[in-house]
Amino acid sequence: MNKHDSSIITQILHDCGFEQTSDFRHAHIFIVNTCSVRKHAEQRALSYIAGLRRWRNTQGKIVAVVGCMAERLGDDIATRLPFVDLILGPDSYRQIGDFLNQVYQRDTKIIETSLGGETYCGIYPKRKGISDFVTIMRGCNNFCSYCVVPYVRGRVRSRPPDDIIQEIEVLVRGGVKDIILLGQNVNEYTYNSITFADLLKMVAEVPNVFRVRFLTSHPKDLNDATIEIVKNHRNICEWFHLPLQSGCSRILTLMNRHYTKEMYLDMIDKIKTAIPEATITTDVIVGFPTETEEEFAETLTVMEEVRFDDAYMYRYSPRPGTAAYEMNSLSEDIIKRRLRTLIDFQNKIIIDKTKEMIGKQFEVLFEAEAKSGATRGKTRGNKDVIVEQTIAPGEVRDVIMREVRGRTPIGEIV
Ligand code: SF4
Repeated sequence: MNKHDSSIITQILHDCGFEQTSDFRHAHIFIVNTCSVRKHAEQRALSYIAGLRRWRNTQGKIVAVVGCMAERLGDDIATRLPFVDLILGPDSYRQIGDFLNQVYQRDTKIIETSLGGETYCGIYPKRKGISDFVTIMRGCNNFCSYCVVPYVRGRVRSRPPDDIIQEIEVLVRGGVKDIILLGQNVNEYTYNSITFADLLKMVAEVPNVFRVRFLTSHPKDLNDATIEIVKNHRNICEWFHLPLQSGCSRILTLMNRHYTKEMYLDMIDKIKTAIPEATITTDVIVGFPTETEEEFAETLTVMEEVRFDDAYMYRYSPRPGTAAYEMNSLSEDIIKRRLRTLIDFQNKIIIDKTKEMIGKQFEVLFEAEAKSGATRGKTRGNKDVIVEQTIAPGEVRDVIMREVRGRTPIGEIV
């Protein structure tokens, strides 16, 4: 989401007459887009920004801090890092050009962190890649007890479907072949009477859209209609990213996730029954307050049962202002040990599943050069694949997998 927000900011600034440079020595303005989802992300951002002080103090330079950490810590950033000129929350990017001009002309400091239901409708960032994100909604209403998103990005609001389709048409004309619809919980998309399943169908029917994917689904909200649309449209990839977070129903209740282990496993069954070749990836949080060894073992059992194709695994990070912040955290040692155990356990599953690809044929959309004349592409199941040949980005080929190096399958063009 942040990566996409950076493209929105770039486009807004471009429309205001600013130019992007990759050489900071020539830059007049340095914008740091920040994340608040974990403490570590904030700490890294704060020390990165602190490192810009000397650069900023060269005459005429401006430092702006934007994004979720700017929203959460606005005044605090201004106090701790007084050289920062502009602090903007995620709903204030439309005015960024004006704010920068004000800072520049009046030598003033601006903090704007109000949340106003912005969807950045009508802003279509220019992209160059084969694959790109399209935000369909912003914010979240779910208030999972560990998560800061509803506080720093506001309540959920959906973008009008015609605006989404128009952006996709622009992307397709520009050569993008793989569209990833983006939202904190895409299943909650609703605009007038249009649901996420309706929107997905509309996007799949845009001429020349080669692949459609979507992120993130919430297990409590993914429904039959969406699975049916995926099943019935060749250009919608059969890849579901379905965060588990914990395999223990008691912890899921404490997390305010509104599903149990059994409901989650039923959803996996439903997907696999409808689309046997579907790939499923997940997110897991380890060491949530009060999680016992037995409850952690339940998560491992679910991981073993589902055999996820990939997983993002994190240690629990207490976030001030969230409900879980008030709960007693487990010790660092326990959390670290459980995370190591989970990563080792899941990595073995990933390697085994990748080895199962050997000898099978996959449709691969090639994206970029890899090392030594090789090319990297993606299967419909979102798996990175390497072939030791030069293939132009955007080309689609059938590939037979021959071997696995590390976690990456190496294939040969059919
Ligand atoms: S669904 Fe839960 S975890 Fe995801 S953004 Fe919303 S509150 Fe955070």
